[in-house]
Amino acid sequence: MYFYLILQSKFKQIFYIYFMSLLRFKVVEDAFKKKAVAVEAPAKAVSDYFGKYVFNREKMAKYLSVETMKIILNAIDKGEVLDRDIADHVAAGMKMWAMEMGVTHYTHWFHPLTDGTAEKHDAFIEYENGSNGRVIEEFTGKLLAQQEPDASSFPSGGIRNTFEARGYTAWDPSSPAFIVDDTLCIPTVFISYTGEALDYKTPLLKSLSAVDKAATAVAQIFDSKVKKVISYLGWEQEFFLVDDGLYAARPDLVLTGRTLIGHESAKNQQLEDHYFGAIPTRVHSFMKDLEYEAYKYGIPVKTRHNEVAPNQFEFAPIYGETNLANDQNLLLMAIMKRVARRHSFRVLLHEKPFAGINGSGKHNNWSLGTDTGVGLLTPGKTPEENLQFITFLVNTLVAVYKNNALLKASIMSANNAHRLGSNEAPPAIISVFLGSQISAVLDKLEKSTSEEAIVVDAKKKMKLGITHIPEVLLDNTDRNRTSPFAFTGNRFEFRAVGSSANSASAMTALNTAVAYQLAEFKQEYDAKITSGVSKEKAIFDLLKKYIKESKPICFDGNGYSDEWKTEAEKRGLDCENSVPRIFEAYTSPESIKLFRTMGVLNEKELHARNEVKWETYTKKVQIEARVLSDLALNHIVPVASKYQSLLLDNITKVKAVFPEDKANKINAIDMQLVEDIAERISIIQTKVAQMIQKQKNANIIENEQEKANSYHDNVEPFFEKIRFQVDKLEEVVDNEMWTLPKYRELLFIR
Ligand code: ADP
Ligand code: MG
Repeated sequence: MYFYLILQSKFKQIFYIYFMSLLRFKVVEDAFKKKAVAVEAPAKAVSDYFGKYVFNREKMAKYLSVETMKIILNAIDKGEVLDRDIADHVAAGMKMWAMEMGVTHYTHWFHPLTDGTAEKHDAFIEYENGSNGRVIEEFTGKLLAQQEPDASSFPSGGIRNTFEARGYTAWDPSSPAFIVDDTLCIPTVFISYTGEALDYKTPLLKSLSAVDKAATAVAQIFDSKVKKVISYLGWEQEFFLVDDGLYAARPDLVLTGRTLIGHESAKNQQLEDHYFGAIPTRVHSFMKDLEYEAYKYGIPVKTRHNEVAPNQFEFAPIYGETNLANDQNLLLMAIMKRVARRHSFRVLLHEKPFAGINGSGKHNNWSLGTDTGVGLLTPGKTPEENLQFITFLVNTLVAVYKNNALLKASIMSANNAHRLGSNEAPPAIISVFLGSQISAVLDKLEKSTSEEAIVVDAKKKMKLGITHIPEVLLDNTDRNRTSPFAFTGNRFEFRAVGSSANSASAMTALNTAVAYQLAEFKQEYDAKITSGVSKEKAIFDLLKKYIKESKPICFDGNGYSDEWKTEAEKRGLDCENSVPRIFEAYTSPESIKLFRTMGVLNEKELHARNEVKWETYTKKVQIEARVLSDLALNHIVPVASKYQSLLLDNITKVKAVFPEDKANKINAIDMQLVEDIAERISIIQTKVAQMIQKQKNANIIENEQEKANSYHDNVEPFFEKIRFQVDKLEEVVDNEMWTLPKYRELLFIR
C-alpha cells in the first residue's frame, strides 16, 4: 500500500526518470565494452559445406531414384506438370535425408502478404496402425504436396471472409526444401479454396512463366534453338546493425523498427568515412558467422561491405533464377536476425531507421537469359546479338514507361515512403537511367532511316551502323545513383525496392509488364512479316517507334533535384506521393488488363491485395502514432519538465542570494530557456492530443482505402511536427536526465 502510494505520487516521475537515465548510461557503457564474438569456420573450404541444409540436386541424386530425379528436374527446368505419385517418392527420399540430419518436424514454408515468411511445424510422428500406441515417423507425398494450415489470421483482403474460405499451401518443387534446426521446410504457394493467390509467391511464379513464354517467342526470332527464357534476380540487401542493449532501451525501434524521435548526431555520414571503410571487428565477426550460415543454406553471398550511413552494411549474392533468389533472400533475412542475436546485435531491415542519414534499399538486379546461355540484356559480340540486345532493352523501356505507376506501387509501403525522396534514395518517380553510350545508340537508331541503317553484307550480317557496340558497352560502368531504375551494363537495377520488402512484389510487376510488352512486340512483328516486310526492317521499324514512345521515361540527370519533379510531371510520369493513393495503380484499367492477359492476377485478387495494402498501411501508421504519443508524454514531457523545474529552482536560489539587478542578469538565459521548454512542452501536448483525435476520427471509417487515406492525410503529418519539438528539447535538456539512447550512441559500433 505504502509503495503504491509512492508510485502514485509525483515521485513516481522523478524515480522513473532517474532509473531510466541510469539505464541509458548503463546500456551505452555496456555496448562500448562488448567484444567481438569469436567465430570458427565450419570447415576448410566453402565448397565442403555449401548447401549442407538444402535438398539440392546433389542430395536428390543420392536419395531419389534415377527415374524420380529425372521427372523432378523436368518439372523444375522445363515446367512440366508433376504427377502426384511422384510426390510419394520425393517425400520418402526427403524424409530419409532429413532424419539423417536429426530432423523431427516438417513445415510448409510460405510468403503470406505480411513482412517475412510463415511456417507451422508438424512432427513426423504418427501412431502405427494396430500398434497399441507405438509411434513411427511418417512423411508422405500427400503431406509434401499439399497442406491446409489453419492460417485464417493472415491478411486476405476479404477473400477468406466466409466460413468455407479455406487456405491451402502447395509444394513449389522449383525451390528446394531446406532444414532449419530440427525442421524440414518445404517452400510452398499459399492459395484460397477458390484458387485465389493469398501470397507473394503464386503471382511471382505465374509472372515468371509469362515472361518465359513471351521472351522465348521473341528470342526465337534471333535463334530458333532457344526453348526457355529465365528471369534472373541478384538482390543487394542493405541493413543497419544496432547493439541489442541500446535497441532494447528504444521502444520506437522495438515496436516500429525505426526511430520516431532523435536529434541528429553531430557527426554522422558527412565525412563519408563509413562507406567501404574497414568493417568494425564486432560486425566483421557477425558477417563471417552470417556467411557460414548462408552457405550452409546454399545462399551464394559474395559481396559484403560498409554502406554510406554509420552502422549500415550490405550483403549481395551471386544472382540466380528469380524465384529461388527471392526465397533465399527471405531466408537470409530470417538468418540475419538469428545470427545477429548471437553477436548481441539487432538487425534493422526497416527502410529508414534513422532520420537525416541514408535509408536502406534492396536493389533488385534484374535480367533475362536464354537456356542457351545468352544474356538478353547483355550487349553481344555480333550485330545479330546486338540487335537482340537492343530489342529486349527497348521493350523493357516501353514496359517500364507504360507501367511506371504500377512499378512504383509494387515497391511502395509505409516504410519505404520515408526513404524515397530523402537522402540517397531514388525519388517516388520511376525513370530509367541508360548512360550516355546506350542513349547515344538509341538516338542514332531513332534518327537513322532504315535504308542507311540496315546493310546486309556478303555474310548476311546485318548492320545498324551500331556494330561498334560490343567493345564500347562491355565496360560501360556509367553510374547514376539517383536513378530508381538504372541500366548497369548487362542488367537493370531496380533500386527503389525497399530493404524489408519481399522482392516478389517488384519482380512480379516487372516481369509481367515486360512479358506483356514482348507479346505485343511479337504480335506487331508477326503482322509485319505476314505483310511481306523483311525480318530486319520489321524489327528496325518497331524499335524506332518504341524508342520514340518511351522517351519520357529516360532520364540521365539528377533524380533528386526539384527540377526533375517539375519535368517528370510535364512528361506525364506518375508523381503521386501519397502511399495509399499510389496503390491505386494496381487497379487501374490498364493494370487489370495487364495482369489478366498475362494470367498473373485477376481483378478480384488485385482488389483484395489492395485492401491488404491499405490495411497494413493504416496499422503501421497507427502503431507509430501510438508509440510516438507514448514516448512524447511518458518520456519526453516528464524529463523536460523535470529539467525545467531544476532551472526554476536555480533561478529562485540566485534571486535569494543576489541583488535583483544582478540576479536578473545571471538568470536571463535560464529564464529564456524555461520559457522555451514550457512552450515546446505545450506544443507537444497539444499536438499529441490533436493527433489522437485524428486517429479516433480515422478509426471509425470502415472502408480500408478511405481509412488509409485519412491516416495519411490527417495523422501522419503530426509526426514531423511533434518530432521537431522533441528533438529541440533533446538539444537543451541535461544529458544526464535524457532517458532514451541518442543517435550518437545508437549509430557507432566500436
Ligand atoms: P553494385 O553495388 O555495384 O551495384 P554489387 O556487386 O553490390 O554491385 O551487386 C550486384 C548484384 O547484381 C549482384 O547480386 C550480382 O550477382 C548481380 N548481377 C550481376 N549480373 C547480373 C545479371 N546479369 N542479372 C541479374 N543480376 C546480376
Ligand atoms: Mg550495391
